[in-house]
Amino acid sequence: MISKLLINGSWVNACSGETLDVIDPATEDVIHQVASAGKEDINVAVKAARDAFDSGPWSEMNGAERAVILRKMATEIEVRTNELAGLEVLDNGKPLPEAVWDIEDTVACFNFYADLADEFHNTPDEKIALSDYRFTTRVVREPVGVVGAIIPWNFPLLMAAWKVAPALAAGCAVVLKPSEVTPITALELGEVAQRAGLPDGVLNIVTGLGANAGQPLSAHPDVDKLAFTGSVQTGSRIMQTAARDIKNISLELGGKSPFVVFADSDIKQAVEWILFGIFWNQGEVCSATSRVLIEDGIYEPVIERLKEEAQKITIGNGMHDDILLGPLVNKSQYDKVLGFIEQGKRSGARLVTGGGPAKGLDKGYFLEPTIFADVEENSSIWREEIFGPVVCIKSFSTEEEAVKLANDSEFGLAAAVMSKDDDRCDRVASALRAGIVWINCSQPTFVEGPWGGYKKSGIGRELGRWGFENYLEEKQITRYNSEEPWGWYVK
Ligand code: NAD
Repeated sequence: MISKLLINGSWVNACSGETLDVIDPATEDVIHQVASAGKEDINVAVKAARDAFDSGPWSEMNGAERAVILRKMATEIEVRTNELAGLEVLDNGKPLPEAVWDIEDTVACFNFYADLADEFHNTPDEKIALSDYRFTTRVVREPVGVVGAIIPWNFPLLMAAWKVAPALAAGCAVVLKPSEVTPITALELGEVAQRAGLPDGVLNIVTGLGANAGQPLSAHPDVDKLAFTGSVQTGSRIMQTAARDIKNISLELGGKSPFVVFADSDIKQAVEWILFGIFWNQGEVCSATSRVLIEDGIYEPVIERLKEEAQKITIGNGMHDDILLGPLVNKSQYDKVLGFIEQGKRSGARLVTGGGPAKGLDKGYFLEPTIFADVEENSSIWREEIFGPVVCIKSFSTEEEAVKLANDSEFGLAAAVMSKDDDRCDRVASALRAGIVWINCSQPTFVEGPWGGYKKSGIGRELGRWGFENYLEEKQITRYNSEEPWGWYVK
């Protein structure tokens, strides 16, 4: 079966007629084909979004009216939770229960932004007090316009929701380009939108390669805003392209997040959160706490326990029961992560467990959960984003040293700290240069809070009200209220 592009409410083939194969990473089988869009398709999709935005009705509806459709989208997704989660497993490889979380979070995201659209509708324009009594100003907030949304493959539907839900809530029209590696559920979102009654052209979905479809989308002069999630390298390229037209841009990029564990921590809790922080979703998580700093006093006992527990992690097809680690998303990611593991071995780090392809699985891109200890600060495995099930561990002896090591990274997406001393946790949390800090846990993410990074991890914030404001422009409307003549030219 071949899936088409959704443009202006119709499902169409790519102008070139070309398609892309979609592969199940657990079996290496081709499971689906999607249209491979190019510049011509992007032009048609952007025109559809532009027309939809410029002529309404979506952009002219009020927030309460938009909320009704967003809630219908949430319901359409919710009733299909198991089916959509299954598609996510086939496409991405993640274990089914984790895919169910993704779909539940997607539903929550649409409902949350429906609520914000409602609240927006009921919030009066802001009045600003001015230093000159003759004038009054009010601030109105308007949708930013046509949004180009480009997303990665690690949480396919959820990453689409993080952009599409707030953009629609704000009244924007969207051209969504999912990752070529995992396009299936984004196309399902198109079906969902149609069934919910979203007007034609408001959400267009174009599948295709980054260079063929993503690049022309980011360069299109009629796109007002680019919302991108992906690698630093692509983010930098997109930013340079967007600079030509001074496009509004938000970037959610990579990470190499630290987890600081102090010696007063409960070892069992520490081991649980360290494992969760790196091995859920196969470690293909932008905020994965992939650099772990453990205070001297408990360094070896924690490593010993990590080894024991990591060796119990069940590896296999995400559709099978009781699997905790699925395959990497594709061959190139598998090769990239194996390459890092080899570099780690050569760097002199101590390989605690794992270190290669999972045993007994002949097909699929399965790797063992891998732990390196005594990792050198200047080694590639410590500094670069691996984006796989590989954790690097190092010891520290003082709080000051831990903070220095944690902050010594070009990334600043997330960080975690664990200690029974609340004051110390708060002190370290404020010293860490990261957009998200977890205390006594790692990874839990809530739609209500801001998400995004410092340094090379990105620009702007998604989720919460910050994610909504991403898609709004502020306009000041200033009125001269006085009967007094202005009297500058005309006396
Ligand atoms: P990627 O940068 O290779 O691709 C992301 C998207 O960009 C894909 O849709 C791709 O087709 C498109 N693309 C590629 N080249 C392009 C170009 N020249 N112009 C326009 N679009 C182009 O990233 P990936 O491998 O899909 O995802 C992994 C990366 O995403 C990791 O670095 C990870 O940390 C990051 N990520 C960040 C967050 C976050 O919230 N900060 C969340 C998830 C993933």
